Amino acid sequence: MEITDVTCVKLEGTLEEYPEGILQERLARPTDVYDEYRAVGSRHVTTEPGGPHPLTQYFLTIETSDGLRGLGGPLDRLWATATLEMGQDLLGQNALATEKIADVLFGRWGDAITGVRAKAISAIDVALWDLRGKHYDAPVYELLGGPTRDTLPCYASMLGFSVDPDDVRQRASEYHERGFQAQKWFFRHGPGSGEEGIERNLALAKAATEATPEHYDIMFDCWRSWGTSYTRTMVNRLAPYEPRWLEQPIDSQHIDQFARLTADAPFPIAGGEHDTTRWDFHQLLSAHALDIIQPDTYYTGGVSEATKICTLASTHDVPVMLHGHSVPANVHVIAAQPPTVCPLVEFLIQRNARYQHFFDESIVPNDGVIELPQRPGIGVEIDENTVERKESYGLE
Ligand SMILES: [Mg+2]
Repeated sequence: MEITDVTCVKLEGTLEEYPEGILQERLARPTDVYDEYRAVGSRHVTTEPGGPHPLTQYFLTIETSDGLRGLGGPLDRLWATATLEMGQDLLGQNALATEKIADVLFGRWGDAITGVRAKAISAIDVALWDLRGKHYDAPVYELLGGPTRDTLPCYASMLGFSVDPDDVRQRASEYHERGFQAQKWFFRHGPGSGEEGIERNLALAKAATEATPEHYDIMFDCWRSWGTSYTRTMVNRLAPYEPRWLEQPIDSQHIDQFARLTADAPFPIAGGEHDTTRWDFHQLLSAHALDIIQPDTYYTGGVSEATKICTLASTHDVPVMLHGHSVPANVHVIAAQPPTVCPLVEFLIQRNARYQHFFDESIVPNDGVIELPQRPGIGVEIDENTVERKESYGLE
């Protein structure tokens, strides 16, 4: 099965309906230590409930000599550009030889184990696994050795919702009742917001915890924005709420500081969504830096690399909570791993409305669990009815 073409398409469309309250609030950012950055909301933030929301996304297609097409995405523009640039090396290769292709791509580009090139390799690898599934007429998780379960439990990731305590109480209760097994909320404030920000962060934690039953799991995400000193203060203040985990309080290049925080905190510390490949995670795991690791299938090197990282994590008895860029890709990796290794699917409520908009079938939870997809490959295709405008980019 020879690779004959690699293409990226830019799709434009409109999200007519999306979760009420979409993009009301952003998460804390490391740049919030600067007054002018702290004052800026998300570029997406809108106070308009409902209403049309324009979407632009890029997708990768890999075609083979026997007429099959593998799909990767959604991607952004820079990501798609890197994917096409690296896609030159795919022409003429055996599409089933994913290990050789990854080895060639990692070898050809000196900076390929990090950043946008690692993301490009990831998208290529997912599209190749989509092709492999279509070639063998089987869902990807079957080819990875699964399934380990018939359904996958999900946690609701509440990025974009208001963090006003009254709104949090209402939504936390609502999403618990919808069957989600746990919820993750995103802190808005960091060291730049002083004591007032600390109080607001604690008000969010209090509201989410009190609005849900006593042993229901609540997690909190800090998106690299806290720094070690602030994190130590917050860990003490958050202890009464017993979160299931605290996510990415600092950047994971500070491996020693992460290891000390993890050793000292009375609840688990998670991170790793911006780390890539087995080599990053080998370092983090060897240093006992995290209680839970969170590689993203679409950032870390694809289905192939995410699977290797799961195996590595299992040797440390560290659970993997895959970061949720692509639920359609993640469910295959998760379904092929024991529940102790991959316990939950991250389902970003608002992102999935956008990221799965152009697909003919959405992979979404029902009553808090995702039924394993049965179609060959990854199991999603572009629904041309959703495309208002399309532009194709081929190899140079
Ligand atoms: Mg996160």
